Amino acid sequence: MIDPRIPITDCIHTYLHCGLCLDNKLPQKIEVGITRLGLQVWCARHNVNVFHVSFDGYELPFNDTAVGGGSVKAVGQPRNGKPQ
Ligand SMILES: [Zn+2]
Repeated sequence: MIDPRIPITDCIHTYLHCGLCLDNKLPQKIEVGITRLGLQVWCARHNVNVFHVSFDGYELPFNDTAVGGGSVKAVGQPRNGKPQ
């Protein structure tokens, strides 16, 4: 459910990085997506999980409004055309 009360400014206080990319001094190449459990950060370079959080079955409120209006359309794009 869309909740316009959720801020759309940069609220990040902890960044997530692929440790293998950091160890090898490579630029991050991560993807973020919705999974059946929740939300996952994936390193496309190393093909490894960076972070996977479960919403524990809850449908959480979100705000996908882009700064300046509109939507970033970040949801609903299955990887390789297949639902994950
Ligand atoms: Zn990596």
